[in-house]
Amino acid sequence: MSKKVIVIGSGFAGLSAAATLAKGGYEVSLLEKNSCIGGRARKLTIAGFTFDMGPSWYWMPDVFENYFKEFGTSVAKHYDLIRLDPSYAVFFGKDEVMRVPANLNEFYQLFERYEPGSSVALKKFLADAEYKYNVSMSDFVQKPSLSILEFLDFRILNAALRMDLFKSISKYIKNHFTNEKLIQLLEFPVLFLGAKPNETPALYSMMNYADIVLGTWYPQGGMFKIVEAMENIAKQEGVKIRTHERVEKINVTNGKVVSVTSNGVDLPADMVVGAADYHHIEQNLLEEKYRNYDTTYWKSRKMAPSCLMYYLGVNKKLKGLEHHNLFFDAPFDIHAEEIYDRPQWPSNPLFYATCASKTDKSVAPEGQENLVLLIPIAVDIEDTEAIREKYYNIMMDRLEHLTGQSIKEHVVVKKSYAIKDFKADYNSFGGNAYGLANTLRQTAIFKPTIKNKRLNNLYYAGQLTVPGPGVPPSIISGQLVAREIIKKFGKGN
Ligand SMILES: Cc1cc2nc3c(=O)[nH]c(=O)nc-3n(C[C@H](O)[C@H](O)[C@H](O)COP(=O)(O)OP(=O)(O)OC[C@H]3O[C@@H](n4cnc5c(N)ncnc54)[C@H](O)[C@@H]3O)c2cc1C
Repeated sequence: MSKKVIVIGSGFAGLSAAATLAKGGYEVSLLEKNSCIGGRARKLTIAGFTFDMGPSWYWMPDVFENYFKEFGTSVAKHYDLIRLDPSYAVFFGKDEVMRVPANLNEFYQLFERYEPGSSVALKKFLADAEYKYNVSMSDFVQKPSLSILEFLDFRILNAALRMDLFKSISKYIKNHFTNEKLIQLLEFPVLFLGAKPNETPALYSMMNYADIVLGTWYPQGGMFKIVEAMENIAKQEGVKIRTHERVEKINVTNGKVVSVTSNGVDLPADMVVGAADYHHIEQNLLEEKYRNYDTTYWKSRKMAPSCLMYYLGVNKKLKGLEHHNLFFDAPFDIHAEEIYDRPQWPSNPLFYATCASKTDKSVAPEGQENLVLLIPIAVDIEDTEAIREKYYNIMMDRLEHLTGQSIKEHVVVKKSYAIKDFKADYNSFGGNAYGLANTLRQTAIFKPTIKNKRLNNLYYAGQLTVPGPGVPPSIISGQLVAREIIKKFGKGN
């Protein structure tokens, strides 16, 4: 008889843990509270428009390829992946739009236009970023981070010295470049990491390598295609996926997890992987004496932002927009302070717009556009319809002004999404969108650990544990946990 594993939560981490464990011979049930799987990457269909509700940037294609390879398949067998060119557009002002080319030579030329001579510094900057990316992906990210000893290896220590762990990325970028716009461009990937550039280690310039060299990609049909592909793989491996299963409790007898209660029914398990928000798994599903962390710990964590989003259907084609558009016509520093230091709604927000219909005809009716607007905001601030509407108008006015066209009167579908929804839909701590901030003090062994310290058959996966937030790290997180279980308990059958 195979050992039974219950995985709670069907985001990328849950899907990845479930499929990897099933491949290792375990009998796996994946329980999801919502009516559909995918977690933060669900899709929303309204009146012929199909929106990706969460992630829209497909970065680090190597991670996806490696995942599919583990199951003897490939990305190409599941979806049609295209590289976006331009990768994205950055609006610094009405007549100042930077279209970031996918081609590396053109990217060097772009730097030369803004700061003559800067392509030399860029070459060195990218060579270092490539080194950091390769070492991180092969040595650091794949560690379960259960002990500092994992990192006490000469090669890793030697590499760590070259990784700029103790320098801020902000300082590091300014050591290479002086042009404000280039600095903003290079600091932008830090937005994904959920911390201010001056608090993010320069190690994360590896994200610039991911952005500039590895590129921004898009699976035709939308990001949900990744979820569908991972669902197919999980099912082929034998995972039973059950939606409408809201887990209410993790039950413990004689120091071992024996079952979970879902919809009032006890479901037995030899092993449980909590792949919903870590805070929810511990604080709401587990008795206090079994928790790894208390409320003081969670209060002291620096969270990555939440966000306000609008999913919009527009009944005409829009000019001037690319697939991805960053509106940097406001100072980043003040907005970042209003997220992290003085949590409040931003006085003059930066925002971001995805117009996936620029690349993909299937996501909007013919002649119309699929537009998603997003403002990063602090976690746990007041969230009302009136506030959302105020920021909708701010974004719309700026969008209309910067692109020189009327948009608002052409909006035929409009749905907002923010803190309250993150809490209700995903049991998200503070309504966070992106998990924990990637500061040095919250990296690797300093993140919430993947293993329960008192119950040896309870593990955690997902964006609040190692390696961190984002689609690729969440996929890796599920794999890490599954491999750790297989290493410790052997094959499931
Ligand atoms: C708006 C937004 C934009 C983003 N943009 C990008 C991007 O462009 N690129 C990128 O790489 N990353 C992006 N991210 C981050 C990325 O989407 C996440 O890091 C990743 O999807 C997290 O996956 P997860 O499996 O850890 O968690 P989740 O996706 O949250 O999955 C957890 C699941 O657990 C379920 N659950 C919760 N409680 C229970 C319970 N009691 N019982 C059963 N099920 C439960 C939830 O419903 C959910 O389905 C974005 C995130 C957001 C929110």
